[in-house]
Amino acid sequence: MNHPVLEHDVLVVGAGGAGLRAAIEASAHGVKVAVICKSLLGKAHTVMAEGGMAAALANVDDRDSWRVHFADTMRGGQYLNNWRMAELHAKEAPERVRELEAWGAVFDRTRDGRILQRNFGGHRYPRLAHVGDRTGLELIRTLQDHGVHRGLDVYMETTVIGLLTDSGRVAGALAYDRERGRFKVFRARAVIIATGGLGRAFRVTSNSWEYTGDGYVLAYNVGAALMDMEFVQFHPTGMIWPPSVQGILVTEAVRGEGGILLNKEGRRFMFDDIPENYRRQTADDEEEGWRYTQGDKAARRPPELLTRDHVARCINREVKAGRGSPHGGVFLDIAWIRRKIPNSAEHIKKKLPSMYHQFKQLADLDITDQPMEVGPTTHYTMGGIRVDGDTQMSSVPGLFAAGEAAAGLHGANRLGGNSLSDLIVFGKRAGEHAAAFAKANGAASIDDAQVERATTLALAPFDRGSGGENPYAIQHDLQAMMQDLVGIVRQESEMAEALERLRGLWHRAERAGIGGNREYNSGWHTAIDLRNLLTISEAVARAGLERKESRGAHFREDYPEKSAEYSTFNIVIQRDTSGEMTLTRVPIPAMPAELQQVVEENK
Ligand SMILES: Cc1cc2nc3c(=O)[nH]c(=O)nc-3n(C[C@H](O)[C@H](O)[C@H](O)COP(=O)(O)OP(=O)(O)OC[C@H]3O[C@@H](n4cnc5c(N)ncnc54)[C@H](O)[C@@H]3O)c2cc1C
Repeated sequence: MNHPVLEHDVLVVGAGGAGLRAAIEASAHGVKVAVICKSLLGKAHTVMAEGGMAAALANVDDRDSWRVHFADTMRGGQYLNNWRMAELHAKEAPERVRELEAWGAVFDRTRDGRILQRNFGGHRYPRLAHVGDRTGLELIRTLQDHGVHRGLDVYMETTVIGLLTDSGRVAGALAYDRERGRFKVFRARAVIIATGGLGRAFRVTSNSWEYTGDGYVLAYNVGAALMDMEFVQFHPTGMIWPPSVQGILVTEAVRGEGGILLNKEGRRFMFDDIPENYRRQTADDEEEGWRYTQGDKAARRPPELLTRDHVARCINREVKAGRGSPHGGVFLDIAWIRRKIPNSAEHIKKKLPSMYHQFKQLADLDITDQPMEVGPTTHYTMGGIRVDGDTQMSSVPGLFAAGEAAAGLHGANRLGGNSLSDLIVFGKRAGEHAAAFAKANGAASIDDAQVERATTLALAPFDRGSGGENPYAIQHDLQAMMQDLVGIVRQESEMAEALERLRGLWHRAERAGIGGNREYNSGWHTAIDLRNLLTISEAVARAGLERKESRGAHFREDYPEKSAEYSTFNIVIQRDTSGEMTLTRVPIPAMPAELQQVVEENK
């Protein structure tokens, strides 16, 4: 083997919020840490996060506490959540947010100088610490600054294509640098996967190009279990026009600040369908909803701030019934607040600066004056690598996962704002426990044969040359197929067809070919990512077929109701010894009495 071998104790794959927080923590525990990322440091997907991070600081409403946050998260996840993770998250998020502030994050402020918190869907009280609508940027900036000073080794524009194992435990990773196309071997005692989600498996998505499900497949290929893969979140409000910007997110903060959803008849349709388990927490009328968004503690939230799965389905219903906007969505109107606030244009620009510029520049539309056209967009993966709630270790010794790459916290549906807090709570935990694992276990050996197999597979598209199947065309067809057959509304026959078509797409992918050389060859990068997209799409479709009910983000037209039977287990996916994907129903452990009581008291 003539590739360079780089030695570290803990290797973090991914430099978003989860990866950076993990790397900082591991380094604080005195081990040598490397961070690898596909793009430049500071450009991870986390940077795009807008609305804020959820933490029960109780700065704006002193009725908030970890107990309410825990209950909200469990209700939002329809009780499939890993309750231990939901408990740790609710308890530890406030401390993690204050820590960010101590490291230099400049949050928006209350009048008396505390961290300001805003309303978001599914959160009973204003809970999202934020920086205008650029919270992810501030999170990344703060972690990046802090991390750089901790002396992390950062490998940018480097893609990990395989994990290496030694007698069942993780031993490191194989990667290539995107600029020169050369392979590198990373030897490590522990590896943390923090690679984010899989949005690029679908045609319409808010996700960046990096989200090709790599981390899930890296872990799956070395035997780690995946969980809850059927739960893909379709955010209700993405841009739909012009076509070139379709899918780009329109933050929920617009609705948190008083934005309302209207159909083409001007009807505020969200009042027409309020789920029973949220009725007591939802405003009776428009006036009460408005008062809630303006901080009236006696008011209840408007139905626009119901959970994302529900809002997305209501929008879908309006469009299907022919009551949609001209380009196939509905209207999201924040301009209407001019009827309530004298300087509304300035207010909107101050509260939602990115949204203002996004629509002005991309759609030539002034949101302070006109409604936006919006529709659902593939946004977030609740499922992922199955981990232990306390340590974040997967079923493979030494392999950890955090952030969107890991499953458990969000169950069947994530509440907005619970991802950024997830990154810092479980990023820290993963870093701490990976460092402990690295200290407790000796160095693992690299198996040259594993490296050889992986590099041969990666280079195969060059052997087939430009006469082979075009990887972009296969990716395009996959995205269209997943959007149509495994999208927001699912049914048996369509998902079965998706699996059939996936076989055909795999067949084509095996014949994918590219020309040129290895330097910055984006066709080659696409051919490599494609294998991950295909594997993970199969996991989503299989898990979707297995769950014969509608729950959270998973909606089955043929099983439109929730089923008590399906409330008792998670669907876990693993690769068996023959390489086949296997599904198991794994019972959810009983919640301790204390947590059950917290759920009851917050119903
Ligand atoms: C537009 C938008 C707005 C959002 N707003 C909010 C919000 O307001 N609040 C909230 O809580 N959540 C929000 N989310 C969700 C949240 O931003 C993400 O879930 C979160 O940032 C994921 O962070 P992460 O650290 O897990 O992964 P990322 O930030 O995506 O980082 C993944 C990292 O992994 C690297 N990587 C991937 N594959 C490989 C590979 N094979 N080899 C090497 N490196 C690899 C990438 O380069 C990147 O560095 C939003 C999401 C979007 C798209």
